[in-house]
Amino acid sequence: MLELSTPVQYVKGVGPRIADILAGKGIRTVGDLLYYLPFRYEDRLNPRGISELRPGEMATVIGEVRNSGLFRTRRMPIFQLTVGQGRSRLRCLWFNATYLKDKFVPGQMIALYGKVEEDQRSRELQIMQPQFEILGDSSDGSENGAAEKAAEKKAAESLEIGRIVPIYESIGQGRLTPRWFRRAIRTALDNLTPDLPEPVPAVVRARLGLISPRAALWNVHWPEPGESLHDLQSSRTPAHIRLIFDELFFVELGLELKRRQQKAQTGIAFRLDESVRTALKKILPFHPTSAQKRVLKEIAADMGKPYPMRRLLQGDVGSGKTIVGFEAAIIAIENGCQVALMAPTEILAQQHYFSARRILENAGYRIVLLTGSLEAERKREIRRHIAQGNAQLVIGTHALLEENVEFARLGLVIVDEQHRFGVMQRLKLMKKSGESSENTHVGTGAFARPAEQSSAADAGVGPGRSPSRAESREPGPAEPDVLVMTATPIPRTLALTLYGDLDLSVLDELPPGRTPIVTRCVPDDRSPEVWEFVRKQVAAGHQAYVVYPVISENEESELKAAIKMYRELSGHVFADLKVGLLHGRLDADLKDQVMRMFQKGELQILVATTVIEVGVDVPNATVMVIEHAERFGLAQLHQLRGRIGRGAAKSYCVLMTGGKITEEGQRRLDAMVRTNDGFQIAELDLELRGPGEFFGTRQAGLPSFRVANIIRDAQLLEAAKREAAAVLAGPNSEVSSEEISRALVQMRARWQLTYGLVEVG
Ligand code: ADP
Ligand code: MG
Repeated sequence: MLELSTPVQYVKGVGPRIADILAGKGIRTVGDLLYYLPFRYEDRLNPRGISELRPGEMATVIGEVRNSGLFRTRRMPIFQLTVGQGRSRLRCLWFNATYLKDKFVPGQMIALYGKVEEDQRSRELQIMQPQFEILGDSSDGSENGAAEKAAEKKAAESLEIGRIVPIYESIGQGRLTPRWFRRAIRTALDNLTPDLPEPVPAVVRARLGLISPRAALWNVHWPEPGESLHDLQSSRTPAHIRLIFDELFFVELGLELKRRQQKAQTGIAFRLDESVRTALKKILPFHPTSAQKRVLKEIAADMGKPYPMRRLLQGDVGSGKTIVGFEAAIIAIENGCQVALMAPTEILAQQHYFSARRILENAGYRIVLLTGSLEAERKREIRRHIAQGNAQLVIGTHALLEENVEFARLGLVIVDEQHRFGVMQRLKLMKKSGESSENTHVGTGAFARPAEQSSAADAGVGPGRSPSRAESREPGPAEPDVLVMTATPIPRTLALTLYGDLDLSVLDELPPGRTPIVTRCVPDDRSPEVWEFVRKQVAAGHQAYVVYPVISENEESELKAAIKMYRELSGHVFADLKVGLLHGRLDADLKDQVMRMFQKGELQILVATTVIEVGVDVPNATVMVIEHAERFGLAQLHQLRGRIGRGAAKSYCVLMTGGKITEEGQRRLDAMVRTNDGFQIAELDLELRGPGEFFGTRQAGLPSFRVANIIRDAQLLEAAKREAAAVLAGPNSEVSSEEISRALVQMRARWQLTYGLVEVG
């Protein structure tokens, strides 16, 4: 009998060579193989009659090979195959397909799948480049001897005709075909142990009407007769739902557990009395918006609790997160603690440093900036200030986590503009700093150290107890609070997975007096008009950005574009104006100097690459010109546009396009012109790019799902989150402690397997 964890070699027909190919796709166990789901299904129970085909439809046709041949046109060889059903015939064509020359023999039965078209001249129906399978052929893949072939052939036929047939992606350069997978998966299912563990508690299964794991694995590959083809194609059968739910449920269970563990740790209960309130009021440079007030209240309430805060502050660009962060900092500082504020880039760290000094220094707070580009001697000095507790607010890049920084009494960590980090990355980062904290006493590392006690254990659940619990029960050093601030509005479903371990606060209101930004899209042959417009804005006392893309594949030449255009603009077009240049390759001092000059209004136009993308705040800038806007992603365009519209004056975003625009590029540009709403833009971005690409890099830190798709399965994700919380709230009359520990064992196995994160739970 096969278990899900049995190595895939034990499936009959899988030899070492095939096992190698499978391993290349991450298929190592029987479970991996069974989770290799069909990407579509063919209805070979009711295949279409050739005579009833209509141009334009996708169709499965089963017929008999009549004749085939290769003919050469001037441009390429074309392979033609004629398939018949009685008197009807259908032509299939493949371009450049000399490899098909000897593939077909008249009389063979064949299944075809593809788009039906009408030939322009003859008006006959044909299918171009269909996918095909010669039915009952067992010549591919199998490593079995010839003796077994006859019997196999018969069995194989029953998997391929007269039913809904699963179609798998071929792998190993076509060595493992859909047909191979059908047989291997069938064999694995036939020999699968009858008692698969059921890790989902009964009450959850009942609420969601989940079928058993075994039935789900069978039916997802071999649908029950009568199953709807539409439900199959859209992954909405009970079998799909069970597998998808499981995957989401155990991710959410891990996140929820993490959340509870964090709350079980000792934190600092910050006092929020009259003197702290007075200090808060003193620094405020303006009336907070009601969203800012509400969010600060949430944060302050968290900070007052005796366990560590883990909160995500989400707000569109320009919604005023910085001041909220500063206020949280004051609460900590007034309680005698230090605060670390980390930004993703040096420019941003610097900017925070300047605004912190502007806003906080008058009130007597001691602020330091610690970045990688400082001289060693200066760094040492600052470190000493931090270690001695003199520095109250320490601002730096994320490298603060890695550098050997020792705090005297770290109370709060603020992580700004974390929109490129997902939960998996964050957990890994924390794990890393957690390890280093053992010997280097990195103050910030402590907040990451995984807790040993689990909430299930708190609730008196047996297994999973770790021997170190007794020690960790003792009040250790208090964990600092953590506030993560993100600028990218994240659709709720994504927030649930990405930040499921954090509590969420949303700034959903812009500060008053902002006029909506006007966005226009123009081809770059109209640049003279654009420059004229920029000139008018500058004449009115405003400032402008002109941004060029830096695209990773060809950073060098793109950089040149920015530099070249800087020469052109500063030397000719705007020769009489003060124009600056900012890009990532400038050394830090220079960057700093340019940024400061722009901030002070000493530069009127800033030519830049996307280094200014995040966070930069110069309210007097009213124009954002983006060249080659068609090359930018939506999130990036939105971030860039977020640099303007920060003051009372009306602001303008000009998207200049050059060259060919893809259909998707056009949709991005249209969306930018249509709306300023970051949430709408994020939704569309997610739709266009898919979750993996959503955060701008492949390493988005999203859990990688095998069967789930968080866009398609948003509702299941919500259900999974709800159920995970309900299960961990037990044991009670609904969920027994045994069920909880079974679920936790499964959750740990999955997390470890998929993410290599042992410490979760
Ligand atoms: P982000 O959320 O993008 O980090 P910032 O914190 O940089 O936004 O704030 C954007 C701009 O709005 C800044 O110039 C800031 O000073 C200003 N601002 C923030 N809150 C308010 C408010 N309540 N009233 C007026 N201006 C505000
Ligand atoms: Mg900001």
